[in-house]
Amino acid sequence: MARVYNWQLGREMSYWYPEQRSKRQFAAVFDTNKCIACQTCTLACKTTWTSGKGQEYMLWNNVETKPYGFYPLAWDVNMLEKLGAQNWDGQRYAGRTVFEAAQAGERVLGWRPEDIDYAHPNVGEDDCVNGVEKGAHFSGVHNSWFFYLARMCNHCTYPACLSSCPRAAIYKRPEDGIVVIDQARCRGYQECVKACPYKKTFYNAMTGTSEKCIACFPKIELGMQPQCFVNCIGKIRFAGWISKPENARPDNPIDFLVHVKKVALPLFPQFGLEPNVYYIPPVNVPRDFLLQMFGPNVDAALETYRNAPKDKDLSGLLTLFGSTELIVAKWKRADEQVMGYDESGREIVRVPMREPTHVRQPFDAARNVARTNIS
Ligand code: SF4
Ligand code: SF4
Repeated sequence: MARVYNWQLGREMSYWYPEQRSKRQFAAVFDTNKCIACQTCTLACKTTWTSGKGQEYMLWNNVETKPYGFYPLAWDVNMLEKLGAQNWDGQRYAGRTVFEAAQAGERVLGWRPEDIDYAHPNVGEDDCVNGVEKGAHFSGVHNSWFFYLARMCNHCTYPACLSSCPRAAIYKRPEDGIVVIDQARCRGYQECVKACPYKKTFYNAMTGTSEKCIACFPKIELGMQPQCFVNCIGKIRFAGWISKPENARPDNPIDFLVHVKKVALPLFPQFGLEPNVYYIPPVNVPRDFLLQMFGPNVDAALETYRNAPKDKDLSGLLTLFGSTELIVAKWKRADEQVMGYDESGREIVRVPMREPTHVRQPFDAARNVARTNIS
């Protein structure tokens, strides 16, 4: 095994191939606080990529209600249990990754879901912890909680799917770091299905090959964000490019959120894959649950997010989410306006930080009607 550096763990780790980062890395930030579980993203992906035979059960993008929702069933709790104790020593992960915990003869610590595990993608939907007693009302503290976790392939820097494939059929595109399965090479051994701890590769029994999210690369090549991003009703998603921490540029929106403000965190970084979808954690969820899910920087991220109204740059950048179909490579704030630019420096979007509010009289005397919507 090679030794590679995983900045999310703050240390080197063992991996099956030497460190070879792509020219640039596709990445995303999801603001969990804004997701309404409308599943528009899920359907946008489904109708674009997985409407064929053998793909009926596949959801390359899914949205599950935590803590009781899973797709496939128990994907995360199974993995956490298999991995055992996961301790952090400050910013350094002191436990074992899925590569380091692999049993003799295996490349990755994994498990393969049963068909039935994919059968209930909405299990646990809107089920809250602690239940709600009859007559209960909100009194300033959330005793009952749940939140929506939107998930897609993380296009990991150290993909478990790739490292487990005995046919070398999975590769990271050198130009953008997107992880794809070569359908001509794949023989359907399903080692990737077993290895991906996020369970984001899927076996197609009709074609006899495995398939996965391709980050809508034909759109990426045209400078556009993927389908699940541009169709997001809650405007929770932002796609772009991430740098290594030492090369972070504040004018790169993903770098700004992940490396500069550190408000967006990787999902289960302890697995060791350096996933490239980052989450702004939900503010209404107990700390211990979030620590396990997003690592040791949760407290700082939540404080930064809560202070966003006083931080004009952060709140300004958050207004760019869902504002354009194009990929914003650079951004800038000037007073109360936020601008996004493409890679050539062309301005592609301009958003005011405050929308004017117009309030109309409840009664329209000219038409002799009462208005139901006055703002
Ligand atoms: S999330 Fe899973 S399928 Fe996607 S790149 Fe990582 S290991 Fe592979
Ligand atoms: S479209 Fe956006 S708001 Fe709706 S479920 Fe998907 S991520 Fe959440």
